[in-house]
This record gives sequence, C-alpha cells and structure tokens, in this order.
Amino acid sequence: MPVHIPTGWCSAVTTLDAVSARDCDVLVIGGGPAGSTAAALLADKGHRVVLLERARHPRFHIGESLLPANLRLFEQLGVAEEIAAIGIRKYSAEFVSPHHDNQQRFNFGEAMDRSMPYAYQVRRSEFDHILIGNAARKGAEVIEGCRVKDVDFHADGANVMAEHEDGRREQWAARFVIDASGRDTFLANRMRAKHRNPKHNSSAMYAHFAGARRHEGCAEGNITIYWFEHGWFWFIPLSDGATSIGAVTWPYYMKQRNGRSMEAFLDDTIALCPALVERLKDAHRVSPVEATGNFSYTTDHTHGERYVLLGDAYAFIDPVFSSGVMLAMQGAFFGAEAVDTCLRDPARAPRALARFDKGVRHGPREFSWFIYRMTNPTMRDLFMGPRNTLRMKEALLSLLAGDIYGRTPIWFSLRAFKVVYYLSALRHLPRTFAAWQRRRRNIQPVEDGEMVARG
Ligand SMILES: Cc1cc2nc3c(=O)[nH]c(=O)nc-3n(C[C@H](O)[C@H](O)[C@H](O)COP(=O)(O)OP(=O)(O)OC[C@H]3O[C@@H](n4cnc5c(N)ncnc54)[C@H](O)[C@@H]3O)c2cc1C
Repeated sequence: MPVHIPTGWCSAVTTLDAVSARDCDVLVIGGGPAGSTAAALLADKGHRVVLLERARHPRFHIGESLLPANLRLFEQLGVAEEIAAIGIRKYSAEFVSPHHDNQQRFNFGEAMDRSMPYAYQVRRSEFDHILIGNAARKGAEVIEGCRVKDVDFHADGANVMAEHEDGRREQWAARFVIDASGRDTFLANRMRAKHRNPKHNSSAMYAHFAGARRHEGCAEGNITIYWFEHGWFWFIPLSDGATSIGAVTWPYYMKQRNGRSMEAFLDDTIALCPALVERLKDAHRVSPVEATGNFSYTTDHTHGERYVLLGDAYAFIDPVFSSGVMLAMQGAFFGAEAVDTCLRDPARAPRALARFDKGVRHGPREFSWFIYRMTNPTMRDLFMGPRNTLRMKEALLSLLAGDIYGRTPIWFSLRAFKVVYYLSALRHLPRTFAAWQRRRRNIQPVEDGEMVARG
C-alpha cells in the first residue's frame, strides 16, 4: 500500500526558506548500486536528475559477490566492459559443511537458462565508482560529499535539504524523490516504517586477506560458503589477489567477543572452521576488520505518491545468496520505469507504482524462504546432495544465479524442492524440532554497541 504523506511532513527541523531551491525532476538520495542505476536510467530518458551521495567514490563497501543475473543489467546500462575489467569471473558457488564429506559445487552454466554461466566478484569501491560515473556520463548531476538532511513532501513533489562537507547547505525542489540511501534507510526511518525482520537476524565481521589458497583454472573466482557452528563464512576471491573473508553469525555469538579486538575475534572465529583454516594457512590480513550487526529488516511499504524506496533503503535480509546488489539494481530498473511514467503521464502513475511494488517485493520474498532455512540441517542435506528430479537442482541453480525475474520456468521445480524439504524435515522430526527451537532463540536481537559498523 502506498503511503500518502501530508503536506509539510518532516519539515519540523528544517529552515528551508533560508536557502534558495534549485529545480530538478528527480532527486536521488545515495549513489550506491541502486541510486546510480536509477539515476543513469532516468537521465537517459531525458529527466533532470540530481544524485546526492554523502561519501566520495571510490569508497569501501561490503557486498563483493555478484550474480549472473547482474550481467544483463550491466549490458543494459552500458557498463559491461568496465565491470568485466575489474572483476574476476565466478562460475560456481561452493558449499562446505562440517557434517558432510563432500564439497558441493553449483555451476551456474547448469542452471535452467544456460546463457548466464558466470558472474563477477568485485571490489565494491571500484564497482560503485563505475556505476556513479555512468550516471554522470548519462547526464545526471552527481554531487558527492553531500548528505541529505531533510525531505519535505508537498502535493507537487518535495523540497530536499542537503549539507555539503564544508557545512554549506543547499536545497532542491524535486518532482520525485528516490531513496537509495542503503542501510541508512533515510525515508523509512523518518516515517517510522522500518521494522526488524522478526523471522531472521544476523551479524557479520569481515576483512580482506592476501595469500589465501585459491582453486585452479576457471574455479579460481568461485565463492565458497563454509557452514560452522555459529553461522557461516564467505570466501570471495578478488581480481587483485586479495580474498574477502566474512563470518555471518547469529547475533548472540558477537556477544562472546568479551573485550577481544575485532581482529583477534575474527581470527578466533576462523579457527572454528578447519576447512577455512586450511585455505588461509599462508594468508595474512590486509585490511581492518569491519563488523555490522542485526542487519535484517524490512519496510512496510515500497513507495508513496512522490517517492520510491530502492535496494537496501527498502529491505535487506541476509547476504548468503549474494543477492543484495542484484536486487538493488533490478529494483532500480523497476523504479526508473515507474518514476518515468509518474512524471510523463500522471494518470497512469497508480498502475506504474503498483507494478513497481510487485517487482520490488518479489525478490526478497523468493530468496527469504531459502535464507530462513539455510542453517537448518535439512536444508544443508539438500544442498550437499542435490537431486535433479523434476529439474529441482537446475531450478535451485537458477535461483542462485538470480534468474527470478524472467521467463525461466523455475517455479514448479522450486515448489517441488520445497515439498521435498518439508517431507525430509518430517522424516527427521526430533532434529527438525531441535533446529527450529535453536533458530527461534538465535534470531533474538542483541545489543551490538561493541561493534564497528561500516559498509
Ligand atoms: C555483511 C554483508 C555482506 C554482503 N555481501 C553481499 C554480496 O556478497 N553480494 C551482494 O550482492 N550483496 C551483498 N550484501 C548486500 C549489499 O551490500 C547491499 O544489498 C547493496 O550494497 C545495496 O545497494 P544500495 O544501493 O541499496 O545501498 P548502498 O550500496 O549501501 O548505497 C547507499 C549509498 O547511499 C549513501 N547515503 C546514505 N545516506 C545518505 C544521505 N542521507 N545522503 C546522501 N547519501 C547517503 C551511502 O553513502 C551509500 O553510498 C552484503 C551485505 C552485508 C551486510
């Protein structure tokens, strides 16, 4: 349901009259993948777009593993070659479980649609820099080092107040606002529309390492997921030889840090996963350890009459399927289409926004069923020994590739997979019940004041 914001909303702390406003059609808050993609598409359609980014690119961000479904979006944006130049190809996603002897490799080339056999691993500083540069090239006015402080909606659009790094304030009169502020969730916070996800909760710590042991040949760029007692690790090789290592844990585990430095805590956590220790035995850390806590949330609506929420500014669940950047960019494609219609043909705005709403909710909804069960023993068994009966493995691969928006007929096979999951869970009822109870305890939020949040 769209939210209707009364005139004057959010204006209590602003002194908008003190600064003269500049006009634009669309004001985009945030220059991550969602904001830069939407800005590029709308500028390309001839709208006057202003993108305000509080940081300066290139800047660090977490989220380095992309999906095959991203590649089509790169083509459409005209950045495919630039991204190929900074990325290392990822042909497969691998899963390693302490309870299974095998290592399971899912090759994207064996998905239902075989035309998307790989994705990339990228340094987000470089990746996001390319995307924001593309937005500027397409004609958006990109202003970095400029933080949006307030938005005041009215019947014809919004007044947006922002502050530059040097303390200078500037105001824009925009016909439409796109919130792509990531986990800052700028508008959702102000509208009190953001909610902790009651069904999921995770925390993470991560760093870059040099000297990690890689696979050979075209497997070099594969992502590996290692389950361990308190969650799972990612192993993401980057093209310059560094490897991104992250531990995604239940929030309670972060409380066990007990005054240790984040560096010592990450080392001690890695030591709990022998298979990962083996790959890191000649490696050393080359970046500070970053952490982020309790990061699963959603917002109760996706848009209003004069704004849309994109990417993490709408919702974020969990990074286990590396879906965040793809969902953010795909959402930006839906958003650009809807905003273009709202501006050119207001009579069709309600239908355009309803289509946007459906598209944006689809991704998190489809991934979340799997995400919520990913640390469950039944799901682990199915992932470690996938069968292709009724094309279930191919459909799972298509999901892992992010191929959820096209015509690939994955839904029947995914439903069959879910039936098999429930039957297996029933067959091991005591184990299923114990896992359900453990998960219920594990998703409780904890104070994460000890943690360093960045990215
Ligand atoms: C631990 C972890 C690991 C992850 N790993 C992966 C992965 O491997 N693959 C993957 O696809 N995704 C991953 N993700 C998710 C991914 O990082 C995000 O989904 C993705 O970055 C969302 O893009 P976005 O454009 O919506 O937001 P962001 O990339 O966060 O961009 C938002 C931008 O808005 C700017 N901004 C914020 N507030 C303001 C303001 N008031 N004014 C101006 N600018 C503002 C910020 O500076 C930022 O540049 C991971 C997430 C976490 C937490």
